[in-house]
Amino acid sequence: MFATYLTIGLTIYVILLFIIYFQSKDYKINSLWLLFLSIILTPIVGFIILFFTDKKNILDIVYYKCPSCKMQYTEWNDCCPSCQKNGENISLRAIRFKSV
Ligand SMILES: [Zn+2]
Repeated sequence: MFATYLTIGLTIYVILLFIIYFQSKDYKINSLWLLFLSIILTPIVGFIILFFTDKKNILDIVYYKCPSCKMQYTEWNDCCPSCQKNGENISLRAIRFKSV
């Protein structure tokens, strides 16, 4: 019974470490250093450190692309205005990319 709890606990611990490690990539902090700290001082400390750390200046761009005519738009429309002129209602797809 104890071994089961230990396994569940360790699994949660490792999952939390993974979350911290990948979250920290968006922050102005060394990911490996934070991972190391989180292993020793529990992931809770890692989350607290992340909370007080500034985020990197990430450019978060969303644009909308028509899957049919490949036109790109910066604003959301229910359907592609270009295709609508031809009588087709094709919904746009949101495309998002991030860069530092
Ligand atoms: Zn279109």
